[in-house]
Amino acid sequence: MREKPIISIVIPIYNEAENIPRFFRSLAQVLSGLEEKYEWEIIFIDDGSCDSSAEELRKLNDGRIQVLEFSRNFGKEAALSAGLNQARGEAALMIDADFQHPLELIPEFIAKWEAGAEVVIGIRKRNKKAGLIKNAGSFIFYRIIRRISTVDIIPNETDFRLVGREVIDAFNRLGESKRMTRALIDWLGFRRDYLYFEAPERTNGRAGYNFSSG
Ligand code: UDP
Ligand code: MG
Repeated sequence: MREKPIISIVIPIYNEAENIPRFFRSLAQVLSGLEEKYEWEIIFIDDGSCDSSAEELRKLNDGRIQVLEFSRNFGKEAALSAGLNQARGEAALMIDADFQHPLELIPEFIAKWEAGAEVVIGIRKRNKKAGLIKNAGSFIFYRIIRRISTVDIIPNETDFRLVGREVIDAFNRLGESKRMTRALIDWLGFRRDYLYFEAPERTNGRAGYNFSSG
C-alpha cells in the first residue's frame, strides 16, 4: 500500500502557555478524524516566549511534535518562515494557537487542497467587535499596501492558510528577511481558493496592537 502523505501543521507561539494544552488536545482530535488518509507532523515555533510556553510544549510528549525554540522574540513572520522551512509535508497548514483560527475548519482546508488549490487562504469575516480603531487601521493598512504593491492583497485575509509543497519550496527560496508571510505567498501566485471564517476573541493573553494582524 502507498504510504500516506504527510501534512505539516505550523503553529507560531508567543506566550501561549495557557492555551497550549487545550489547543493541542483540540488539534489532535481534529487530526484523528483525518488519519485514515494522512500522517501529521506538528511544528511549534516558540518565538522567545517569556511565560512557560516552552515547558508546556515539552509536556505534550507526542511523537509527531517538533519544537523550534527561538533565542528571543523575532515576531510571527519569522516564526512562520522557520516553520515552513522545517516542514516536510506535502502541504503545510499555518494556524494560531489562541483559538482565533477555528480548528474545525482544518478538514475544509485540506478538502480544497485535494480539489486542486495550491494555496487555501482563510478570510476573516468582518469582526464587528474589533472596534472602530482597529477596523479603520486595517482599512488604511490595506489601502496603503494595495497602492504600493503589485500584489492584490485581499482585505481580511489571514495567515490561517494551507500551502502545497510547490508553494512551500518557492517560499523557502525567497531571501527576504523582513517579510510578511501572507503577502509573499500571494505574490508567488499559484492556484488559490478561499475559506471564510469568523474569528472569536483571542483566548487568554493579550494581542499586541498591530495593524497587519491576521
Ligand atoms: N505570535 C508569535 N510571535 C509574536 C506574536 C505572536 O509567534 O511576536 C503568535 C501567537 O502566539 C499566535 C499568533 O502568532 O499563535 C498570532 O498572534 P496574536 O494572536 O498576538 O495576533 P493577532 O491575533 O492579533 O493577529
Ligand atoms: Mg490572535
